[in-house]
Amino acid sequence: MKKILFVTSEAHPLIKTGGLADVCGSLPKALAELSQDIKLIIPNYQALKTSESVRFLCSLRVDNRNINILETRMPDSHVTVLLVDYPAYFNYPGNPYVDEQGEPWTNNAERFGLFCRIAVEVAMNRGHLDWKPDVVHCNDWQTGLVPALLSLEHDRPNTVFTIHNMAYQGLFPGSAAAELNLPGKLWHPAGLEFHEMLSFIKGGLVYADHITTVSPTYALEIQTAEFGYGLEGLLNHRKEFLGGIINGIDLDQWNPETDPYIAQTYTAATLAKKQLNKSEVQRKFALPVNGSVPLFGLIGRLVEQKGIDLIVECLPEMVALELQFVLLGSGDKVFEKQLQKLADLYPEKIAIRLGYDESLAHLIEAGVDSFLMPSRFEPCGLNQMYSQRYGTIPIVRKTGGLADTVVDTLPETLAQHTASGIVFNEADSGSLLEAIKRTMILYSLPDAWKKMQINAMNKDFSWQNSAEQYLVLYENL
Ligand code: ADP
Repeated sequence: MKKILFVTSEAHPLIKTGGLADVCGSLPKALAELSQDIKLIIPNYQALKTSESVRFLCSLRVDNRNINILETRMPDSHVTVLLVDYPAYFNYPGNPYVDEQGEPWTNNAERFGLFCRIAVEVAMNRGHLDWKPDVVHCNDWQTGLVPALLSLEHDRPNTVFTIHNMAYQGLFPGSAAAELNLPGKLWHPAGLEFHEMLSFIKGGLVYADHITTVSPTYALEIQTAEFGYGLEGLLNHRKEFLGGIINGIDLDQWNPETDPYIAQTYTAATLAKKQLNKSEVQRKFALPVNGSVPLFGLIGRLVEQKGIDLIVECLPEMVALELQFVLLGSGDKVFEKQLQKLADLYPEKIAIRLGYDESLAHLIEAGVDSFLMPSRFEPCGLNQMYSQRYGTIPIVRKTGGLADTVVDTLPETLAQHTASGIVFNEADSGSLLEAIKRTMILYSLPDAWKKMQINAMNKDFSWQNSAEQYLVLYENL
């Protein structure tokens, strides 16, 4: 049994801004289910919600400040949660990273710098918890200083750093290194310095004993200039200690057999019932209710990463085809306006809902025939896995986790019972449109389509699978 300290800035259901929270909510639970002794450490944000009781554990003194450590538990699990309670840094309204105007909190370097220092104190068993981890598992830039600071300690635990998205690096002016009182030993271009800036993520990439990212393909991609943001050389240098482990999904929350948010539950054996969800989506989005027209959907952040510009470019040509398209998302205001304009122009074919709506997301996954994910890059991606579990055929660009979790439909993959979606190569609207047309041809062949749906629904996207791989990694450190 390993003792694991899991360090993260968000974890569902305590606090969530994106996919990072899904992973950091599920993976510790899955490790606990494999009988590991795991504690999660996270800042005590104002918006953090827990249904479990919270108790005071101890007080730590770091940088002339007194910080309280509170203890609670992840709902429905044996995972202990340590809350780093420092109201001057974390008791703000809104989001963990940005203010109500969407601007990063001006003291983010200090906030997450302090969080990292506390994690180090706990990791070194200086928090009087009588518990010393074997492994400290850190996630994304907010935790990057932990492996760096631990590298200076004697008799330290092993460290793992997981990259959930290379696009976010925690870059701050170089002066922050002195303000944070970071040891001079860490401040050089082969350390935390990145073009005279302080880079939190480099703390993980340079100093962690092992680096993982959330899919094997993304682990290779980030070693290239296109995806590495100037850190590809460093990642390539460390490739011996870098690998990819694909995320799992929460099979209870995303289960078409029991999903309370959908109009009609169904299984691979009762696929015909999926149609009722399609009608419900069409009704909710005020589109003509028509069972035979192929219905395409998209849910996600409306940002360039997700290829939303390709969708905007493609839609005027898509409306010439016999299809419907629904979208749920929010993000870039320019994309929101462009999409709204197209929906207003073609109300019989395109309908959009701007905002975040968990229950509608479930209904869309259950109701559409095919789910679009033309991402420019995608470290892992969750929606393409949810889609497959719901017998909804994903159309994905061949990148990152999309490439690793969707099998393109070809005569040979149909024969091998592995075909589960449509994969296209280039990030341009022509390739996307071609993929949509290819999907429509398959949709018109009910036998082939049903085979694809069943292949998709039978795939194993469980966390147990991924947690076992992390455990092997911990054991081999
Ligand atoms: P990322 O973390 O890059 O945003 P992922 O596909 O890994 O992308 O995870 C996104 C998660 O957020 C999924 O669970 C997705 O369904 C959900 N999501 C994104 N936008 C919305 C929205 N507007 N309404 C409901 N759920 C959303």
